[in-house]
Amino acid sequence: MKIAIVGGGPSGLYLAILVKKRQPSWSVSVVEQNVADSTFGFGVVLADSGLARIQAADPQVYEKLIEKMTFTGCQTINVKEQPIDINHPAKGGAIARIDLLHVLQETAVEAGVDVRFSQRISHPRDLGPLGLGDADVVVGADGVNSVVRAAHEEGFGTTRSLLTNHFAWFGTRKVFEKSALVFRTHEGGSFVAHYYPYCATGSTFVTECDHATWLKLGMQAMTDDQRQQLFEQVFAPELDGEKLISNNSNWRQFPVTRNRHWTVGNCVLIGDAQTSAHFSIGSGTRIAMEDSIALAEALTQEAAPGTAEPTALQRLANFALKRGPDKDKLLTASRKSYLWYENIGEWMQRYSPFEFIHAFMTRTGRMSNDRLAHQYPELFAQFEQAGVLNQTAQHEESGHPA
Ligand SMILES: Cc1cc2nc3c(=O)[nH]c(=O)nc-3n(C[C@H](O)[C@H](O)[C@H](O)COP(=O)(O)OP(=O)(O)OC[C@H]3O[C@@H](n4cnc5c(N)ncnc54)[C@H](O)[C@@H]3O)c2cc1C
Repeated sequence: MKIAIVGGGPSGLYLAILVKKRQPSWSVSVVEQNVADSTFGFGVVLADSGLARIQAADPQVYEKLIEKMTFTGCQTINVKEQPIDINHPAKGGAIARIDLLHVLQETAVEAGVDVRFSQRISHPRDLGPLGLGDADVVVGADGVNSVVRAAHEEGFGTTRSLLTNHFAWFGTRKVFEKSALVFRTHEGGSFVAHYYPYCATGSTFVTECDHATWLKLGMQAMTDDQRQQLFEQVFAPELDGEKLISNNSNWRQFPVTRNRHWTVGNCVLIGDAQTSAHFSIGSGTRIAMEDSIALAEALTQEAAPGTAEPTALQRLANFALKRGPDKDKLLTASRKSYLWYENIGEWMQRYSPFEFIHAFMTRTGRMSNDRLAHQYPELFAQFEQAGVLNQTAQHEESGHPA
């Protein structure tokens, strides 16, 4: 089997490793537009359930990642200038995106994957001159602006829309002790910062505001530097004199991309190329790597005794069938989460801090009060004391979306 993977991000490299380790005789190539040391962003969070799956799929990669990760067992949520600490049971942590890529690049090369850097393709047909035109499977692991997807949009049934909030992904040299979410009203606008330490020298600092704030403060007419300064001013108490650092930190509105079908002929999409999961559920990388696990399993699964070896196309169909239900659940959570954030100004005004935190934690529908009581007993006791659980029940009864 010959596999050509377009994109050497987390999903493409991890898929290449898993396939090559299971089938060393197969030809597995990764075509990446950037050099090995280039990437966007700073640190990413890998939640504990994702880490457990990575550990089960490949203990070697897991061990290497764990060594480079930063773990914090507490998150602060600050709304209406009342910081509330939430001790969480999860064992997830953060890692510099470049460290994650280096681990995956090194492991891929050690496993015998043919990794080609500085090789941008504009269309799957460009694989021909690279000697990959006869690949049995072409994987689009090339992120949100996938050229593999763009080449077959109709076949994939691609839909695209933009959310209204504006965000940019910065870093800072300040190493925070805990991760935090700060929701702040400033000059009548609603601002959000999500920061977390990811190594001994820095933290990720994701900044966001709603569209009303963007217009009200004239941000559409500002330069990127001016926008950065504005956010440094709004979050000066947290930054404590440190600046935000930009690394291709463009201001964007989040693109929601979905595909009705994940395969067209021998082309298949994984990771952000297939579906963009909103960063507020902190799982884009995990979801992308779980796609890789599912596709590697489908591609390398042995035929049942007495049955014919499945063709490459049958294996791709199995991938979609098996991965679909899990992915749907995650994407439903992502959708509920981004819709909640789209109304952030209203929630910040309407709710007391504990009401806000309860609404925030239950926004995707995956966290029931019973689960809250079990996983966050201290916080649950504070909710009870503040009478938040009763008030939320009234909201639900009156059809309120919290
Ligand atoms: C603000 C923000 C915060 C985030 N925070 C988190 C977080 O905390 N935790 C988390 O898990 N995720 C987070 N994410 C999401 C995460 O970055 C993505 O979901 C993840 O990177 C997806 O991996 P991927 O391999 O599918 O795509 P990508 O990481 O985008 O990789 C695609 C690769 O393909 C290459 N490529 C693209 N086009 C071509 C081409 N034409 N030819 C050759 N190569 C090409 C690119 O250079 C890139 O290396 C965040 C995202 C944003 C925007």
